[in-house]
Amino acid sequence: MKRRSGQDPAITKNWRPATLAVRGGSARSEWGETSEALFLTSGYCYDRAEDAAARFAGDQQGMTYSRLQNPTVEMLEKRIALLEGAEACRATATGMAAMTAALLCQLSAGDHVVAGKALFGSCRWLTDTLLPKFGIETTTVEATDNDAWEAAVRPNTKVFFFETPANPTMDVADLEAICGIAKKHGIVSVVDNAFATPALQRPLEFGADVVAYSATKMMDGQGRVLAGAICGTEDFILNTLLPFHRNTGPTLSAFNAWVVLKGLETLDLRIRRQSENALKVAKFLEGRVAKVLYPGLESHPQYALAAKQMEMAGPIFSLYVGGGRKEAHGLLNGLELVDISNNIGDSRSLMTHPASTTHFGMAEEARLEVGITEDMLRLNVGLEDADDVIEDLDRALKSIGR
Ligand SMILES: *Cc1c(COP(=O)(O)O)cnc(C)c1O
Repeated sequence: MKRRSGQDPAITKNWRPATLAVRGGSARSEWGETSEALFLTSGYCYDRAEDAAARFAGDQQGMTYSRLQNPTVEMLEKRIALLEGAEACRATATGMAAMTAALLCQLSAGDHVVAGKALFGSCRWLTDTLLPKFGIETTTVEATDNDAWEAAVRPNTKVFFFETPANPTMDVADLEAICGIAKKHGIVSVVDNAFATPALQRPLEFGADVVAYSATKMMDGQGRVLAGAICGTEDFILNTLLPFHRNTGPTLSAFNAWVVLKGLETLDLRIRRQSENALKVAKFLEGRVAKVLYPGLESHPQYALAAKQMEMAGPIFSLYVGGGRKEAHGLLNGLELVDISNNIGDSRSLMTHPASTTHFGMAEEARLEVGITEDMLRLNVGLEDADDVIEDLDRALKSIGR
């Protein structure tokens, strides 16, 4: 069985991404199963007491407890690391567990963080509310303004934290420039890559130090489980993240890891088709509504940058329907195929009103500052026929007189 192991670097080193997504990280058990095995076990047994002692002392390879290691979770971690081109990866229970661990594992009171202004709502809560509680200062900057990153650096700046494309403003931040500024000052850059996934964008290739994921989104891709992941160098994962992760326990369940392993098998296919569909739908909406924000459209302010650092623009975009909440909610209520749902990265088309849902917890002033207005809607375009999605949107737009 070993000969075809997806964990053997001698075998995986020449595999291309689509192959890694199906086979990377797989390790067959003694039974030779085709599909990855699901190890639902919280603990492990030892032949002799001396083996237990040796394993705890780190003198013997093997697993001790599923908060620390699990064969199914490890297969997922290896697969994501291979797709990302990272030396190592650690999975977490949710995307937010990944973001929290990626930040807290390396920060102490007295440190300073610079973060992009347009962040996922809970990520903004981390930077604005949680970190300051522990004496960690944060400055938020316009992520698309490279000079603003440089200007925000202080002697105690430890981390740059941003997402690109950003949720839900679809700002595209310049990975190479921002990670370059971080490197120059000895700052660790942490990139939330949930919108693109390694299938479309690999931040490490542009100089990022740490890449963190909500695997709940495109990696599962079918709206089933929550999961997260953190990728980086072996030194960062083993020496900085693991002490925090092992002792605080944001561990991913083996079952959810198994579901995401299955999701990754089709990631490449799904994200490419959904990106094609999103472009078609975005083109239909452009001209029909006040504004469409999609990095795949030439009208997007960072269209050229997106084309440089992303293979395709992804399944998600935002639009301004014109008017206010009445029009935005009216459009949602007029939909028959597209679901009203705040999730993204699903194979179903889903639409949400960020100001009253995902970004409701953000101060109104901060919302408006990044462009989350009452007439903004976010659309995740799924795997349905794009023409059916377009017809549904057309009908809903007509219902509000557009
Ligand atoms: C969804 C999301 C998260 C949080 O992930 P969960 O799995 O819901 O905890 C973080 N960042 C971005 C960009 C997201 O879209």
